[in-house]
Amino acid sequence: MSNLQTMGQQHGRRSWAEPWKIKMVEPIKMTSADDRKRALSEAGYNTFLLRSDDVYIDLLTDSGTSAMSDRQWAGIMLGDEAYAGSRNFYHLEAAVQTHYGYRFVVPTHQGRGAENLISQVAIKRGQYVPGNMYFTTTRLHQELAGGIFADVIIDAAHDSQDLHPFKGDVDLDKLRALIDKVGADGIAYISLAATVNMAGGQPVSMANARALRELCNRHGIRVYLDATRLVENAYFIQEREPGYADKTVSEIVKEFCGYTDGAWMSAKKDNLVNIGGWLALNHEDVFEAARNLVVVYEGLHTYGGMAGRDMEALAIGIEESMSDDHIRARIGQVRYLGELLEQWSIPIVRPIGGHAIFLDARRFYPHLTQTDFPAQTLAAELYLDSGVRSMERGIVSAGRDPATGDHRFPKLELTRLTIPRRVYTQAHMDVVAESVKAVYDHRDSTRGLRMVYEPQYLRFFQARFEPA
Ligand SMILES: *Cc1c(COP(=O)(O)O)cnc(C)c1O
Repeated sequence: MSNLQTMGQQHGRRSWAEPWKIKMVEPIKMTSADDRKRALSEAGYNTFLLRSDDVYIDLLTDSGTSAMSDRQWAGIMLGDEAYAGSRNFYHLEAAVQTHYGYRFVVPTHQGRGAENLISQVAIKRGQYVPGNMYFTTTRLHQELAGGIFADVIIDAAHDSQDLHPFKGDVDLDKLRALIDKVGADGIAYISLAATVNMAGGQPVSMANARALRELCNRHGIRVYLDATRLVENAYFIQEREPGYADKTVSEIVKEFCGYTDGAWMSAKKDNLVNIGGWLALNHEDVFEAARNLVVVYEGLHTYGGMAGRDMEALAIGIEESMSDDHIRARIGQVRYLGELLEQWSIPIVRPIGGHAIFLDARRFYPHLTQTDFPAQTLAAELYLDSGVRSMERGIVSAGRDPATGDHRFPKLELTRLTIPRRVYTQAHMDVVAESVKAVYDHRDSTRGLRMVYEPQYLRFFQARFEPA
């Protein structure tokens, strides 16, 4: 139960609090309205181009922005920086085997390093790679390896107001239709993500993972998992799926992985480190091939681009990330922010997901057209109001259609408030919510932006804007 749900009850109020206390603090700069105006103008009204020094509360991303624990920092001092066979690698390998249940582990510098390896090893040119929605780096590596992405997520995932409890589920009928069309040989593997980032941090149910496994077994197709936010997914299963309320998040993670043949990981998310990743596999031949390639792209197979100390912090982070208390507070904080906004009828993607609140900029600014860049405008307004940094996930992020050269017009036009793990307090969330409310209150007088510089690739990172 969230604090908000209990708020206002005179008797028996029982709040929860974070299962940690603060031992070291990092001061952040308090900026004035004039400072912010200048900084945003210099940054071309693009939050990616702001200096972090000019940001008060940074909700750009949850990637690599977690606070490490005292145990992890102690682990940093235990780095064994041997080129080969570092003891920290064996700790990492054991942590992945114990908590995720896979047999073989290949370390990588971050998630996309592992995506590159599995894509190169498991995709033959021209094969399809069906997935429950795409992720930017995942799809790009699959395409660079000659794969063709096919979206097989349920339709509800594309609707910001559909309240389906497991909006990340694979639509098995869509997958069956693809298998009928191209044959099992035409499919490299299923690319299953849990939770689904681009759908708003929405989970996959255990029943869906089990049914997917059965279907794939009948056709001899492998299932590889993007485990980046699987612990968050497991918490939603524990909370929502019949039969899982009494299981630990750790048990749920392990059962889920048991329906897959391997996984790649951006350890910068769930696993509570600032840098790191891994690929884990059950089939020895695939492992051999990936271990061969890792020395080309990342480093020797016992460090894969990480320092020994990074691997030690990661091994400890994996263990900490599986704690029920930790994950309840992590998701509870995201939900706390979301429920404050809902209470004020501010339009957000629902249900509230695992790692972020997504403001629905279309409904926030109904008077703006999509070419006024409403989500980019909202991110700029929020920064101007309070120094809170968010990110655009709408028409700017979607880029242009390579064939016609016109903008792609995505259905979802969103501004993402992404919550780093163990970094901010409830008071920070109050400040964020109140700032969104202030921006919402003067929404009618807000005008859009026009793009004055547009890079060729991944334009959202470096595009520049001016007030329209
Ligand atoms: C961040 C992310 C990745 C890529 O990982 P990096 O560590 O940024 O390279 C892959 N999949 C998902 C779902 C992610 O959120």
